[in-house]
Amino acid sequence: MVKRIAIFGSTGSIGRQTLEVIAAHPDKFSAEVLTAYTNEKLLIEQALAFNPDIVVIADDKKYEAVKEALSNTHIKVFAGENALNEVALMDCYDLMIAAIVGYAGFKPTLNAIETGKVVALANKETLVVAGDIVMRKAYEKKVPVIPVDSEHSAIFQCLVGEGRNKIEKIVLTASGGPFLGKKPNFLVNVKRDHALQHPNWSMGAKITIDSATLMNKGLEMIEAKWLFSLHPEQIQVMIHPQSIIHSMVQFEDGSIKAQMGLPDMKLPIQYALSFPQRIPSNFPRYDFKKPSTLTFEEPDMRTFRNLSLAIDALYKGGNMPCVLNAANEIAVFAFLRNRIGFLDITAMVEKTMEKISFIENPSLNEYLDSDAEARNYAASLIQL
Ligand code: NAD
Ligand code: MG
Repeated sequence: MVKRIAIFGSTGSIGRQTLEVIAAHPDKFSAEVLTAYTNEKLLIEQALAFNPDIVVIADDKKYEAVKEALSNTHIKVFAGENALNEVALMDCYDLMIAAIVGYAGFKPTLNAIETGKVVALANKETLVVAGDIVMRKAYEKKVPVIPVDSEHSAIFQCLVGEGRNKIEKIVLTASGGPFLGKKPNFLVNVKRDHALQHPNWSMGAKITIDSATLMNKGLEMIEAKWLFSLHPEQIQVMIHPQSIIHSMVQFEDGSIKAQMGLPDMKLPIQYALSFPQRIPSNFPRYDFKKPSTLTFEEPDMRTFRNLSLAIDALYKGGNMPCVLNAANEIAVFAFLRNRIGFLDITAMVEKTMEKISFIENPSLNEYLDSDAEARNYAASLIQL
């Protein structure tokens, strides 16, 4: 049986790699929904190549161009942000790959779960914003949430066959990003283009900046808490600059399982699509005969303070991770437009976390309000 895949965010780094996996296995997967924000050219190209049932262009000014280009096909074209939420509720697909970046991916993902679709989750922000609500809904609807993030995929793979065996702790590995070993006197002058050069992974702009500030690892700790029902004390981060061990699980007998391989997102993407099976791939293999050393060190949280802010939010819980995420999205957006410096990202997140009122057990609406409030406050901190 062919699995019908909806790629929310098909024009992004994860979206494009998902299409490569689908193209390599046409007997197993078909792309039925493709969505993009503003890149109508690539969306059209992808639609003509994969012939999905539906495409959505979130930026409605681009609707005519997409409609016109696909007028000789049977592909249905929708536009606008609300169309993303509506298409997520439709029955034309079996599995959503949630590959929109940031908070914009939250509602479509929740809608996919609401209607019982399997979710392959790349969009970690969804769990950072309201992980309790998302996972509760997935449990209620008996929907598997399969991680795509490489660290979480690694942990997920280590847990296969472990049933109810107790996890003592997990170790999330981090490459350390392009500024590993640098100090604040260096970071204060870092510019956008330098921060966009990641040593091991080629990814979208937002996650690349998050990797340079280590916020990405903080968001991943929060993501791991919800995916694997962990306490904050069970989640450890270690810098592993070679990015060969993608993460590890230590069980209560002290045994540690690790998942390894060359850094290539197509592997966790393919695993999420084919789970519980493994299927063949031609991805490059790690070669133990080539000289290499695998090293581990503790993260420098005094320099990369975003990680310690995220850990504060993880321990505090409630709406704090949501507030942290919103402020960070605004700050990274401003940094990418050269409006603020690299270290200002941390200052904006910290000030916003101090300002927004704490809510211990937020409802969905309270999460949405906290997100909006935090965004407005963070934006007000940027000097015009
Ligand atoms: P990207 O910027 O390359 O792509 C983002 C996609 O989302 C694009 O298709 C874009 O059109 C769409 N999008 C952006 N804003 C939107 C909006 N407001 N409304 C609707 N659509 C919108 O990002 P990416 O690197 O592919 O990352 C996607 C998600 O996957 C992120 O949450 C990221 O943290 C996560 N992730 C990415 C990688 C990676 O290697 N790229 C690894 C792990 C996790
Ligand atoms: Mg990751």
